[in-house]
Amino acid sequence: MNVILFGPPGAGKGTQAKKLVEFYKIPQISTGDILRANVREGSELGLAAKEYMDKGELVPDEVLIGIIKNRLKEADCEKGFMLDGYPRTLPQADALSEILEELKKPIDVVLNFEVPDEALVTRISGRLMCKCGASYHKTFNPPKKAGLCDACGAEVYQRADDSEEAVKNRLKVYKTQTQPLIEYYEQKGLLKTLDGTKNIDLVFEDIKAILLEFA
Ligand code: ADP
Ligand code: AMP
Repeated sequence: MNVILFGPPGAGKGTQAKKLVEFYKIPQISTGDILRANVREGSELGLAAKEYMDKGELVPDEVLIGIIKNRLKEADCEKGFMLDGYPRTLPQADALSEILEELKKPIDVVLNFEVPDEALVTRISGRLMCKCGASYHKTFNPPKKAGLCDACGAEVYQRADDSEEAVKNRLKVYKTQTQPLIEYYEQKGLLKTLDGTKNIDLVFEDIKAILLEFA
């Protein structure tokens, strides 16, 4: 099962990905998580990416394409994968098609999370993140023990790019550079749109109903 989780920042992709990983036992490939791990480690890639990420800009395509190319070749992607936060531009989508053609692993479905801007801002401004990639919300989905990740026990934190200014820019960047991919995948007959405003468990049920066909 090869799936793309698609939608604006804060739509709930990462939250659903964690539940899907557990349910279907296929890996989540979150380019945001990969970049943040590089920033934490202080790698060359992380240092270069941080400048873009803090401003809410996209990291250059060639960097992301390189990351995805290597990641999709790893053994855990044999039985399927879930892309979260990639592709975000037309060149990234074209590169992905080429890579997957070579690997003979076609995309089965693109799940398009629809959530209005006001809700995205409320979600992002209350988001708490863990370095393991788990995502919480101060009100909608708080960790069981205040301030600590349910999954790994580490301290949760607010992302630097979840500041009001960076969020506004990320939504603008989404509309100009990423949203056109909806049409791209619709034309390929791969797009399934979800009502991402429902609560976390209901969105998960809707996704499972769509994925039944591919499991
Ligand atoms: P994305 O990965 O798409 O950027 P996240 O999964 O990190 O988004 O979710 C953004 C924020 O919204 C988090 O604080 C998360 O807890 C919260 N959230 C996710 N899904 C829902 C939902 N269905 N209803 C309310 N809040 C949600
Ligand atoms: P995310 O965790 O998906 O919200 O991503 C956080 C930030 O990482 C984005 O605002 C970008 O700066 C960068 N990023 C993640 N994925 C990509 C991508 N596919 N293309 C370009 N930049 C990305």
